[in-house]
Amino acid sequence: MKDESSEDDSDVGCPYCESGSGCDHLLLFFDATDGRADGGVVDPYDFDEIVAKAFVKVLQESTDPNWHDWRINELFEQIDDEWAATMLTATTPELPETLPIDFVFELLDEAGGAEQPGSLFDQSGGYCESAVRVSYAKDPVATCEKAKHLLEDRLENDINPPPKRRRRTRGEA
Ligand SMILES: [Zn+2]
Repeated sequence: MKDESSEDDSDVGCPYCESGSGCDHLLLFFDATDGRADGGVVDPYDFDEIVAKAFVKVLQESTDPNWHDWRINELFEQIDDEWAATMLTATTPELPETLPIDFVFELLDEAGGAEQPGSLFDQSGGYCESAVRVSYAKDPVATCEKAKHLLEDRLENDINPPPKRRRRTRGEA
């Protein structure tokens, strides 16, 4: 075996080129122990920003949306009056909490990303105290853009219809 990677830390194989680490297909390398992205073209913060912008729009319109995705609803429910006021005046509004990374990976998956589940730990063992999640794509930049569009689309359209109001019909008092 030649050219063995000295960095066990990132030794999760790419399904496209079978490179050990750092190839051009890396979509997102997320270190769950530190709770931060550590490589790839995806910046999870971009996804937070998209959600924050959609929330600001909702706050401005004083509507009360009910998204199909409970994680979006849960995030929105954490916005109290004080936070809402900050969001409405900030140039770059921030969420009270970051979007769950599960959600980001789900979007990447839907956009065509290939997450390599647990391969790092299953094969080498002994790293269980830390958790790393890695996703690859044939065209990571395009996949990342697609995932962002999917999120925008969900925020815009994936809303439960408002509870039915009794329509006043003609002739009714
Ligand atoms: Zn690759």
